[in-house]
Amino acid sequence: MIKLTDRIYYMPHSEETDRPILGYIRGDKFTLMVDSGNSKKHVELFTDDILELEMPYPDFVAITHSHWDHTYGMSSLKAISIACKKTNEYLENMLSWEWTDEAMKKRLATGEDIEFCDTMIRREYPDLSEIQVKTADIEFNEILKIDLGGITCELMRLESSHADDCVVVYVPEEKVIFIGDIISEDFHHGESKYYREKLESLINDFKSIDFNTALFGHMEPFSKQELLTWLEETYSENFIL
Ligand SMILES: [Zn+2]
Repeated sequence: MIKLTDRIYYMPHSEETDRPILGYIRGDKFTLMVDSGNSKKHVELFTDDILELEMPYPDFVAITHSHWDHTYGMSSLKAISIACKKTNEYLENMLSWEWTDEAMKKRLATGEDIEFCDTMIRREYPDLSEIQVKTADIEFNEILKIDLGGITCELMRLESSHADDCVVVYVPEEKVIFIGDIISEDFHHGESKYYREKLESLINDFKSIDFNTALFGHMEPFSKQELLTWLEETYSENFIL
């Protein structure tokens, strides 16, 4: 667990089974976790660390988008979960997915899932029957503000090439923003790609938000300038539709 500010901590990502960063925001009244991890084991690593630091178990968990590595830990977390409506629609669809070798291979053939996730899911779950998908308890449309006591969080849905349900968790008092995978390309529809209008919109959104540090799900934290430079280079260099 890494302490970013007095009230914000995060557990770094791990590439072995594609575990994303998990965030922790401590208010005077409530605490909020960002993303629910990819499994029960991932959740327990996080909550064990929290309890060891003698900090309260999370009251809420905010979900940045529906992808398995950010959501499959939700069912083993005793916190009230919050996601945008679109994320819940995707999770609702995944509730009916069967977790057998055959069903997974079928989803690769139909394009419902991709090779990378399939490999990582099998690595995280040697016993596939342990996978439990759940929808979030609270859903919102575009924006939700939560007062944790002395600190607030703004959950905002922004345009992204990566997925159409991407939410950022912005903490204005600390000038920190958790951005999930929002700066990644779309990996789920053929060759990975960015969409010009969505990337432009995202760059403009980040320009207008006042933050010092951005926590992306699968890399080290960025400063605002580093993030904008990275996005602008991506915009000019990568193949974009
Ligand atoms: Zn993702």
